[in-house]
Amino acid sequence: MPDHDVAIVGAGPVGLLLACLLAQRGVDVAVYEMRAGADDRSRAIGIHPPGRAALDDAGISAEVRAEALALEGGDVVCDGRILASLSFTAAQRVLILPQHRTDALLRQRLSRLQEGALHFAHRVTRVHDEGAAVSLSFETGREKTASFVIAADGVRSGIRRQLGIDWRERPGTGWYAMVDVPDAHADLRARLHCESAGLVESFPLPEGRRRWVASDPQRMLDDAPTFIDAIRRRTGIRLDLPDGTAPTVFAARQHRASRLTAGRIVLVGDAAHETSPIGGQGMNLGWAAAGRLAAAIERSLGTGVLVLSDYERPTMRAVAGAQRRSFFYMTMGRPARGPVLWGRNVVIGALGTAPLRRRTADMITMRGA
Ligand SMILES: Cc1cc2nc3c(=O)[nH]c(=O)nc-3n(C[C@H](O)[C@H](O)[C@H](O)COP(=O)(O)OP(=O)(O)OC[C@H]3O[C@@H](n4cnc5c(N)ncnc54)[C@H](O)[C@@H]3O)c2cc1C
Repeated sequence: MPDHDVAIVGAGPVGLLLACLLAQRGVDVAVYEMRAGADDRSRAIGIHPPGRAALDDAGISAEVRAEALALEGGDVVCDGRILASLSFTAAQRVLILPQHRTDALLRQRLSRLQEGALHFAHRVTRVHDEGAAVSLSFETGREKTASFVIAADGVRSGIRRQLGIDWRERPGTGWYAMVDVPDAHADLRARLHCESAGLVESFPLPEGRRRWVASDPQRMLDDAPTFIDAIRRRTGIRLDLPDGTAPTVFAARQHRASRLTAGRIVLVGDAAHETSPIGGQGMNLGWAAAGRLAAAIERSLGTGVLVLSDYERPTMRAVAGAQRRSFFYMTMGRPARGPVLWGRNVVIGALGTAPLRRRTADMITMRGA
């Protein structure tokens, strides 16, 4: 008998949510995370309707709603003029909660469902499909076995590499800088400045804060004065950054794994697909996929045969759609002038007109993904 029904490698938001969904179904699950403790980096903030549904299924929607703020909508601006303005319906509602808080709520939920399921400081160095089970080797030299192993080990997935699964690049690359700062104005709208000199986005955060993101092709906006100056030159807004605040520069890239399964080993989340943070979709896509995977695993544990067509195909379709959308958002934010800028503003304006507004809001909020 294997040590566990399912072993999940990686306690990011996707591995944790999948563990909750499985534990809720009575599946014996172990999560192995190489970090010694929580990841406090500031990454995902946007929880779209598919993500809300996943959190609901995991039984933590009330906790998330209590901490998150609900985004009312957003405005796209160029040169001081609002090109398009959207307000979200209840069904389109996007919740905003920093990822480290969402992760913490998922960890709490998992420990209530299955105490001791999460193992920090456990770096998996190798997985081996032995036919009837999969063995996992740890840096410490220990070994465990599980009926199925789920690689939720992120964009740089060592398991994906070990299995020799191709990591195919998709269009949509760029560099950005971001910073989360106190915000005196209690504003619940996102603002996207698609300016001739490049993109500036800002989003409200809980606890009176706001996230600012600026395109940074030269990777030079990593100090406060340069960041503030870029925001002022592009938008006319004078940003105040508290002493000691340093923007974080990050790369946006898009990739898809050529396949998501190898025998009893399955890729999920960023290990399976990398989606540009512009548009805020990666975590939500991973959660929606985790829901499909949990259902497939539950069915398989009964029969011993892992049938993943209901996981793999819809996930790849959803990822393709999300990557196309992110590419579009990134294109709309590139520096532009003259007829290109004019044409782009016409397209954005059209997306905000009455006949298209609802569909545009559905697209932005990942409805149906
Ligand atoms: C700036 C930024 C903003 C973003 N904003 C949004 C947003 O608003 N909305 C959204 O949906 N998405 C957003 N994303 C994307 C989102 O952060 C990712 O899609 C999400 O973190 C993926 O979760 P994951 O669990 O698949 O992987 P990860 O969060 O990368 O977790 C993987 C885990 O696996 C562990 N691990 C790796 N290798 C091993 C090993 N060998 N053994 C054990 N453990 C291992 C890692 O330590 C890590 O904890 C954003 C990303 C960035 C960078």
